[in-house]
Amino acid sequence: MVTGLTAKKLYPEKSILIITEEKRGLVPCGIPYIFHDLESVEQDEMGLNPFMNAGGEVIYAQVKSVDTRKKRIFISPGKVLTYDKLVFATGSIPAEPKFIDGYSLRSVEYIYKSFTKMKQLKEKVSKAKKIAVIGGGFIGVEVAEQIAKIPGKTVSLFECEKYCLGKVFSDELCKEAAEAIKKTNIQVHTNARVDKLMWSNGKVTGILLYGGEVIYVDLVIMAIGYQPNTWLAGNAGLELTESGAIRVDRYLRSSAKDIYAVGDCSETMGFITGAENGIMLASTATAEARVLAYNIFGIKIERHFPGTIGVFSTQINGLTMAAAGINEKIAARAHINYVSGEFTDIDRHPGYFKDASKLTVKLYVSPGDGSILGGEVWGGKSAGEIINIIGMAIQKQVNVYELISYQIGTHPLLTGAPTKYAIIKAAEDALHGLKSA
Ligand SMILES: Cc1cc2nc3c(=O)[nH]c(=O)nc-3n(C[C@H](O)[C@H](O)[C@H](O)COP(=O)(O)OP(=O)(O)OC[C@H]3O[C@@H](n4cnc5c(N)ncnc54)[C@H](O)[C@@H]3O)c2cc1C
Repeated sequence: MVTGLTAKKLYPEKSILIITEEKRGLVPCGIPYIFHDLESVEQDEMGLNPFMNAGGEVIYAQVKSVDTRKKRIFISPGKVLTYDKLVFATGSIPAEPKFIDGYSLRSVEYIYKSFTKMKQLKEKVSKAKKIAVIGGGFIGVEVAEQIAKIPGKTVSLFECEKYCLGKVFSDELCKEAAEAIKKTNIQVHTNARVDKLMWSNGKVTGILLYGGEVIYVDLVIMAIGYQPNTWLAGNAGLELTESGAIRVDRYLRSSAKDIYAVGDCSETMGFITGAENGIMLASTATAEARVLAYNIFGIKIERHFPGTIGVFSTQINGLTMAAAGINEKIAARAHINYVSGEFTDIDRHPGYFKDASKLTVKLYVSPGDGSILGGEVWGGKSAGEIINIIGMAIQKQVNVYELISYQIGTHPLLTGAPTKYAIIKAAEDALHGLKSA
């Protein structure tokens, strides 16, 4: 939608068509909240109206195949279209743990980005009493937190690693997250590897963990991750990466002439690490989409996609947590040296206002040139916006020396104090670390 809308606004004379199989789209990031905080699945609906209002056309159908040589698209039932330029934005689908016996049973559910499927799942959740969520990534934790808010539900969350959210957060932040999760109604099982599911008459009855523990449940939600939805691209002969994403260059061009790919279906490279990292985020997808729309009819501005920074944020039980770029685990894997700096304070001044919260900013900084390589922010809601400043600092290769001289706006009701603004104080702390490094 973002590629189509941006391109239509930039090139109103072009005919732009979106073909999508979903008649009723959802805001994917809002899906966890359909279970509790939103009143209905309908409140999470997102359509293509902005694109159509801008003059774009839409066909609701599934594309069955693409002939890249003759530039043809085959749509059910038997309809054929031609194109000058083609964008794959086929997204991702839930990964199925084929290694867990029973993964495809009735009452084993997956979080699809589909209005109809989520409507059905909400109905099933409302009837179930004991619900297991397998996978403690941000989708599993958010879904578990929301369902656990519904009176009368017992929700168990299973994560095979030491911490939930460990793929995106440092151990320090994971510990904070664990405290926040503990205060919800979720029964958390970490270091808990699911061996197999148990069932009777095709319906799940329990979960058997390695070690022999059994937890009886009547509904299982799998949240072990997503995989690029690239069967169509693969069948069309486009080059795929080892993880199955569509191979693209820095201008989002695929291996086939006049074919591009954006979003979850396309390859992502870490901005700092330079390695494929399989990041699937709406924020990344929309940035790629805008860059592509600018360049699709010829690279008129040098706005190539510089690599994925991976800016994550979430909120569990009132604690906002956010991360961008590297943390100590990513740095260790990619052999990147860093110095970190951290600062904690209250996000209002003086700190007695009712909505004041503790806020911590942690920065990961290059010992070579002082540039910001990553950051984490947690505490009050402002963490969700402060991480976006850090994301921009990473992308613009701002260093801590520049950061400490940045001019900021502050107000008692809105921000921390100018004398100890958390992001600047964290930069100062990192600077001390740089001097002694
Ligand atoms: C529960 C959940 C929570 C999330 N929360 C966040 C968040 O807080 N922040 C964030 O940044 N990201 C979040 N994400 C990730 C985000 O949703 C994805 O990164 C984003 O949806 C990617 O957009 P996309 O357009 O690439 O793909 P998708 O949203 O997957 O859209 C692809 C579309 O293509 C259609 N399609 C596929 N194949 C065909 C075909 N052959 N013919 C026709 N149509 C086809 C699909 O039906 C689908 O409508 C979340 C994801 C989930 C599931």
